[in-house]
Amino acid sequence: MKGIERCIDAWDVLADPDKAPGGKEIVVLGGGTVGCETAEFLAFRGNHMSVIELTGELCRDQEQEHKDHVLMELTERGTALLTSCAAQEIGEDFVSYKDAAGEIHTIKCDMDVCATGQRPLHPDWVNELRSEGIDAYTLGDATMTGDIRRATRSAFDVVMAL
Ligand SMILES: Cc1cc2nc3c(=O)[nH]c(=O)nc-3n(C[C@H](O)[C@H](O)[C@H](O)COP(=O)(O)OP(=O)(O)OC[C@H]3O[C@@H](n4cnc5c(N)ncnc54)[C@H](O)[C@@H]3O)c2cc1C
Repeated sequence: MKGIERCIDAWDVLADPDKAPGGKEIVVLGGGTVGCETAEFLAFRGNHMSVIELTGELCRDQEQEHKDHVLMELTERGTALLTSCAAQEIGEDFVSYKDAAGEIHTIKCDMDVCATGQRPLHPDWVNELRSEGIDAYTLGDATMTGDIRRATRSAFDVVMAL
């Protein structure tokens, strides 16, 4: 996507909220759990938020009760929830997106946050540690990003196999 390098990663904002101190117009790209919860967090800090989501559903993989709560908080804080929309370009002070009808729109903004998904880095630590005689395993989101249940299950499976 043109201008993607201007985006701040959602993980970086969550780790250092001072990156978004409040009073800003912020667009989050990606309306999965991470994007919606990051938007909620930044809305609580006094920012006006927009969320652009490619599919027709926000917080798709989230449990219904939690999903309803997050979406209610976002709606109450006036967040623009733009589903079935594809971000096209990130400019210095705008984001453009295409809606389901193929029309291009532009949002003026101070900041863009990217939450379009993560994947593991697959560093070679495990093999390095094993080569030094240390028993090591990769598990949780380091094997495949998922949720807490999957991460703890993968830990359980490793421990049970010892
Ligand atoms: C905003 C958000 C909301 C979420 N909501 C939910 C939810 O509602 N329900 C759900 O089930 N899941 C949710 N998830 C997913 C869930 O958090 C993860 O699937 C889960 O935390 C994975 O556990 P993990 O231990 O594999 O990794 P993590 O919890 O990410 O833990 C990895 C740890 O390793 C540390 N680390 C990284 N690099 C190094 C290094 N070089 N040396 C030492 N330590 C290092 C990190 O600081 C971190 O503490 C959410 C994720 C996010 C980002």
